Amino acid sequence: MNIAIDGPAGAGKSTIAKTLAKDLGFVYVDTGAMYRAMGIYFIDNGISINDKDAVTGSLKNILVEIRYEDGAQKVILNGTDVSARLRDEAVGNAASVTSAYPEVRTHLMDLQRGLAKKMDVIMDGRDIGTVVLPDAELKIFLTASSDERARRRCKELEEKGEKADFEKIKADIEERDYRDSHRETAPLKQAEDAVLVDTSDLTIDEVVSRLKELAGKKRNG
Ligand code: C5P
Repeated sequence: MNIAIDGPAGAGKSTIAKTLAKDLGFVYVDTGAMYRAMGIYFIDNGISINDKDAVTGSLKNILVEIRYEDGAQKVILNGTDVSARLRDEAVGNAASVTSAYPEVRTHLMDLQRGLAKKMDVIMDGRDIGTVVLPDAELKIFLTASSDERARRRCKELEEKGEKADFEKIKADIEERDYRDSHRETAPLKQAEDAVLVDTSDLTIDEVVSRLKELAGKKRNG
C-alpha cells in the first residue's frame, strides 16, 4: 500500500508523513530531498540554475540514491551523503527553480517509483498523487494558509537561534507556491481523488489521527 501526500511548502507534510510512517510501519520517502540533492550538485559545480541547457546537460553526471539508517532517509549524491546540507536556503531555492525542468523531473522518476514498488511508502512532494504514483491507495493534499506556514517557519528558525523576518519568509513561500503551481510539467495541484486537509487550525496530533483514520479505512477495504 502506498500513501501520497502533496501540498505546498510548510504545510507540515514531512512532519506528518514521518509520524504517520512510524505509526503505520511504512517507509517515509521525502522527494523534495531528491530535488534538493540535485540542487547541491548544480551549486557545487557552478552550474547556473537558470540555464536550462547547462542543467539538463549535466544530468548524465548526477546519481541520486536513497539509503535508510534507523528509519531515517539519507540522500546520497554521487556516492557522498549530502543529507546534512539539504535544508540550506540556497539549496531549497536551487531545487525550486530546477524542478520546473521536465528533464530534471524525469531523472528522479525511476528512483521514486522504484521505492514505492519495493516497499509500503508514504511519499511526500508536489506531484506524487498526480504523476509519480497515480495509483496510490490513499492520496492526501495537505495545505495551510501562507500566513500560518510563514509563522511555522519563523518559529522553526527562532528555535534554532536564527533570525526570522516574517514578511520575507512569507513572500518567499508565496513565490515558491507560484512557481510550483504554474510550471508546465507536473505542477502542484490536488489530485481529483485526493482528500484535502487544511492544517491551518489543527495540531500535528489532530492531523496525524485524521490521516490514520483514512489509512485504516483504505487498509480494511
Ligand atoms: O518539499 P521541499 O521544500 O523539500 O522541496 C524542494 C523543492 O523541490 C520544492 O520547492 C519544489 O519545487 C520541488 N519539488 C517538486 N516535486 C516534488 C518535491 C519537491 O517539484 N515531488
